[in-house]
Amino acid sequence: MQKILKLGVLTSGGDAPGMNPCIRAVVRTGIYNGLEVVGIRKGYQGLIEDDMYDMNPRSVSNILNLGGTILKTARCLPFRTDEGMEAAYQNLKKRGINALVVIGGDGTFTGALRFAKKYTDIQVMGVPGTIDNDLYGSTYTLGFDTATNTVVEAIDKIRDTADAHDRLFFIEVMGRDSGAIALRAGVCCGAEAILLPEKATAIDDLIENLKNGQDKKKSSSIVIVAEGDKNGGVYDIARKVQQEIKFYDIKVTILGHLQRGGSPSAFDRVLGSRLGYAAVKALLRGESRKMVGLQANYIKITDIEEALTQHEFKLEEDLMEMADILAI
Ligand code: ATP
Repeated sequence: MQKILKLGVLTSGGDAPGMNPCIRAVVRTGIYNGLEVVGIRKGYQGLIEDDMYDMNPRSVSNILNLGGTILKTARCLPFRTDEGMEAAYQNLKKRGINALVVIGGDGTFTGALRFAKKYTDIQVMGVPGTIDNDLYGSTYTLGFDTATNTVVEAIDKIRDTADAHDRLFFIEVMGRDSGAIALRAGVCCGAEAILLPEKATAIDDLIENLKNGQDKKKSSSIVIVAEGDKNGGVYDIARKVQQEIKFYDIKVTILGHLQRGGSPSAFDRVLGSRLGYAAVKALLRGESRKMVGLQANYIKITDIEEALTQHEFKLEEDLMEMADILAI
């Protein structure tokens, strides 16, 4: 088992609330165990550009409550090339860093695995950080809970105005490939319909459903549409529905990037702390090319390779069925 000389930590891909508590845990667990810890700015870009700094326990003071990531993040195209990876490796060697914690989504893990296979003297441990909750190996990813809470707060407000005016709102939430936020938020807000990338919804059925709602004297309706739904986008759907439904004034709201920001929820702070702590402990045990995750409230370690080849978010069919029944 190789001895860890220095530990690097980075955040990559889309930012997610909970990354900061995780960085804090990595830094302090590393230092507690006698390691030197280096913060790498802007994900893989910082590796390639040698944009790194030494961290100490005070570098991560008062960040538990901060959204975003103090290390910043980036989508870095050059890291996909052999030259980019070689530059990153040389910078790590120069600084004596031989272990990395990478916090990010599936793209980040794909890069991490390629890198760790190519340069086997660098140990790599992944932490699932993405609001999409779409990584195999962890029931929850960092940021999903906070983002869902943000969406719920926004939709509650929209429901007030929808009800006051007898309106139908179409609300687009994040999730290009994953309906995780849409589904959870739909249950929380009693949405009349939830449109997801994983499940086709016929517009005719949606219209029928909304007409039934009117017959049952519903004074407002909320339809949540995940970004990746296959019906052509939220405006298109709203237009088609308005052609058939005249009794509702239809409005569209796109929640957009506000879903990424904000102070991490208590759940994401605990999750970030646990995953960061577990990632360093796993590296100290000599593990590499793995990710730490939470399953049945226990920390579980999964091969990154396995996490990437398994299907991502499994639609919780029971929640979908329940949401439909509870919205009658
Ligand atoms: P999110 O789920 O929030 O989008 P992500 O980690 O999936 O997060 P990506 O932009 O897909 O976000 O990936 C992050 C970074 O990982 C990329 O910008 C790139 O630097 C690196 N990466 C992705 N795929 C590869 C690959 N095939 N080879 C090398 N690096 C990669």
